[in-house]
Amino acid sequence: MICNKCGQENQDDALSCGSCGHKLQSSQSGPGQLGFDDGGYVEPIPMLHEAGPATRRKTRKHVEAWAVALLAGGAAYGLSAAELYWPLFVLAGAAMAYALLRGLNWKG
Ligand SMILES: [Zn+2]
Repeated sequence: MICNKCGQENQDDALSCGSCGHKLQSSQSGPGQLGFDDGGYVEPIPMLHEAGPATRRKTRKHVEAWAVALLAGGAAYGLSAAELYWPLFVLAGAAMAYALLRGLNWKG
């Protein structure tokens, strides 16, 4: 029989592959078992499903924070180029209030 891991041909009554040591399917096994003997087959898919929604939420928060930071940075650059400095304090206060509100929401 042929090892389904490395492709090495082994004796039909061999229990494990003579080349890589992989456990061999017995000839009595149904065809449905083929491919399921390899340890890593089942795990990855449910793990990805569990990580999915939480990861997406986190990414959205990061994108939002970056958008706000870029917006504030652009506004600050434009205002200082126009030699208007007082709105920067308003902007900084608004940014701090935003960060505080978002910080409280993140914990909850
Ligand atoms: Zn093998």
